[in-house]
Amino acid sequence: TGTLTLEGVTKQFDTGTVAVREVSLDLAPGDFVTVVGPSGCGKSTLLRLASGLETVTRGTVAVEAASTSYVFQDPTLLEWRSALRNVELVGELRRVPREERRRRALEALELVGLTGFEAQHPRKLSGGMRMRVSLARALVADPDLALFDEPFGALDEITRLQMQTELQKLFQLKGFAGLFITHSVSEAVYLSTRVVVMSGRPGRIVAEIPVPFAYPRP
Ligand code: ADP
Ligand code: ADP
Repeated sequence: TGTLTLEGVTKQFDTGTVAVREVSLDLAPGDFVTVVGPSGCGKSTLLRLASGLETVTRGTVAVEAASTSYVFQDPTLLEWRSALRNVELVGELRRVPREERRRRALEALELVGLTGFEAQHPRKLSGGMRMRVSLARALVADPDLALFDEPFGALDEITRLQMQTELQKLFQLKGFAGLFITHSVSEAVYLSTRVVVMSGRPGRIVAEIPVPFAYPRP
């Protein structure tokens, strides 16, 4: 499980803008692929097509995953719920029994280093901690496929480096396939097993570069 295949995907919006043209991409279990490229070259659109949030104009998107999660740059946390209850929400929506739901949420918060902060409300947390809650919420359901739209783009440099290290650990531990958008080439090289470079308007994939010192695949 945990595969994503895009074949000859083109997206033209109702406005007439062609955001991506003829894009093909393969993600297998153990792949962590980053997409880099200038603003407006269609990276977000590509991710939204992969997630099913947008429909393709031409081409095909095939996802094989029991569960997919999506992490945005701006963590959409529920401000009136504690960190724990934000992470528990996923289990609530899936009707997971209360005790299991709580156990898994506590475990996920521990994985992202938030033990001790379970009862805090999001507005009291720093940007990095909010991103950690968002990561815990994304990973609590053990997704086979995780999609990241520039999640660390708004964080300060030090927090960003910490989050990169933690995400890499989580990836090694959990073994989901990942597709990760970033503006930062160093972030891409650090995190991924493969870097995809997009360019142009409409955006196309102009290079795919395996990262030679990629960590071992699960
Ligand atoms: P990136 O993520 O690389 O910055 P986007 O995928 O956000 O690029 O945008 C690619 C192009 O598609 C841009 O020209 C953008 O204005 C356009 N675009 C994105 N979303 C929409 C939309 N919902 N409707 C119309 N045009 C869009
Ligand atoms: P980024 O550059 O960080 O990828 P954008 O600011 O381009 O993000 O886009 C943010 C949101 O606005 C996305 O959901 C995208 O689909 C939407 N969007 C971008 N351009 C347009 C547009 N021209 N018309 C409508 N929606 C758009």
